[in-house]
Amino acid sequence: MSVITPDPQRSSDPGARDASGPPADALLTVRGLEVHYPGRGGLLGRGGAPVRAVDGVDLDVVRGTTLGLVGESGCGKSTLGRAVLRLSEPTAGSVVFDGTDVTALEREPLRLLRRRMQMVFQDPMASLDPRQSVQSLLVEPLVAHRLTDGRSEQEARVRELLDLVGLPSSASGKYPHEFSGGQRQRLGIARALAVEPDLVVADEPVSALDVSVQAQVINLLEDLQQRLGLTYLVIAHDLAVVRHIADAVAVMYLGTVVEHAEGDDLYTAPAHPYTIALMSAIPVPDPVVEDARERIILRGDLPSPAAPPSGCRFHTRCPYRQATRCDTEVPVLREVAPGHVVACHFAEQVASGAIAPA
Ligand code: SF4
Repeated sequence: MSVITPDPQRSSDPGARDASGPPADALLTVRGLEVHYPGRGGLLGRGGAPVRAVDGVDLDVVRGTTLGLVGESGCGKSTLGRAVLRLSEPTAGSVVFDGTDVTALEREPLRLLRRRMQMVFQDPMASLDPRQSVQSLLVEPLVAHRLTDGRSEQEARVRELLDLVGLPSSASGKYPHEFSGGQRQRLGIARALAVEPDLVVADEPVSALDVSVQAQVINLLEDLQQRLGLTYLVIAHDLAVVRHIADAVAVMYLGTVVEHAEGDDLYTAPAHPYTIALMSAIPVPDPVVEDARERIILRGDLPSPAAPPSGCRFHTRCPYRQATRCDTEVPVLREVAPGHVVACHFAEQVASGAIAPA
């Protein structure tokens, strides 16, 4: 399972840090992670307030499990995923992968460690060079990490990788444009698996695909996890996408984690108003239930991460906002049930219906 360890003294304030230790079987431990970018504004577009894309996040991902990281576009989830691999440079905090602090590594040890941490991207076409054949695309990472010797060994490995992701060996001579969207994502997964990673960060792996194909790719990821013992961080904007595959789910809003729960708890008992709003957007297959379903429409757009609102960052859009505490006091990330933490002053009242949305 993937867990975050709550600290009652810890606030979701950007400056707060979680001093609690990771679970013994954590493959990935993120503590106080910040990714801030220089702000724009003023003369020559410089000198504005820093953009707080990720602003004090703690997460643990236990070996062999999946953590789903969910939030709307611009909440910082993709930046966090990239920072785990140091494809985006953290400005504070730590990312410990299998006992090694990734943020402290020099170039060459980082390159070597990256073999064990791979990324699957949203748009397979953007991550696959259209001029390269599948054979070439899959051999490239093997050569970069000096993992095969000689042509016949490379060809055998390519056949093995294609078989792993459910594509025929005849695919090796083709080019990315000759495949459907789902098949291209299978190629993206095969390329990530070529170097036999332990951790795969999948950033919106199915959001560019038809709904009918999404389940196939999620099932493939799950099957590969069981066969290869992989650990996943799956990033999505849709809670429904990660429900089937995730052992734990964290919800991000404006650079911080606002709710985190194990198993199905987040779906059966969401306690943060933002999570409740995301849940209300998930269609229900039963037409009668779907017709009666009450959707919570959030007011306004996501505020700028260069100027997050005071108090609870969600207060400008929260239908449950209570003046004036929500506007002035940063909510503590605290446990409302075993393994279920929420950053909301009124989580219990919201979850029980004691406070109704405005
Ligand atoms: Fe809404 Fe207040 Fe809870 Fe923030 S602390 S989520 S504004 S009820």
